Amino acid sequence: MVYFEKTDNENAKKALKEAKIIGGECKSPEVLNALCEEFYNKCYLCEQKNPTSIHVEHFEAHNAKNNPKFYYSWKNLFWSCGHCNQAKDNIPILNCTNKKHDVSNWIKYKIDDSEKVILESVYEGTSEKYKKFINNTIKLLLKIYNGVGYKEGTYLGPIESENLRKKLIEEVDNFKTCLKKYEECLAEEKPQILKKIKRHLSKQSAFTAFKRWIILDNEYLKKEFEKYFD
Ligand SMILES: [Zn+2]
Repeated sequence: MVYFEKTDNENAKKALKEAKIIGGECKSPEVLNALCEEFYNKCYLCEQKNPTSIHVEHFEAHNAKNNPKFYYSWKNLFWSCGHCNQAKDNIPILNCTNKKHDVSNWIKYKIDDSEKVILESVYEGTSEKYKKFINNTIKLLLKIYNGVGYKEGTYLGPIESENLRKKLIEEVDNFKTCLKKYEECLAEEKPQILKKIKRHLSKQSAFTAFKRWIILDNEYLKKEFEKYFD
């Protein structure tokens, strides 16, 4: 997860206001365009880019239209893929649009040798509330990436997780190849490769948190590339 800024998109807010009056859906083109732009067409949970199944996620549970305050609240609408939306329960997790929740630095994101995702809390604060949010977030993300924690008899979720991990590993391998090339290439080739590395480290790219932790975990890489985190 990485931080996304929730802007005051007037078109989207206006469309939601109108939908609330008539009891309509919160998925008008104005709302969808604004959400897609704000989240760079990335699922806020798994960080998959350009998902083929898109859900408008209500971050705080809304109990359908019985709770219009949350249902039509612009700040409560997030861009999610179908896989993650299905996996999410109503337990409180870190909010990637809240600057106080340092979503990419409080959790360490790694892939182990057996190509499973490993997540670890590296939060050093004392807030019990944040510790609970972090643990819940880790639990949810492990369900999403590793397919663990589904109810018995759920078979599709874990298969989707496996497909997601294939995309994750391919993307992270591409990034590692760029880093290796940067080390080995001629001086005149460096700017071109650096451009690619910067693109990988931008929050707009797929699976950014994993790539950033490759950088943060190595003193040399950290000194060289941490400055490109946006
Ligand atoms: Zn997702």
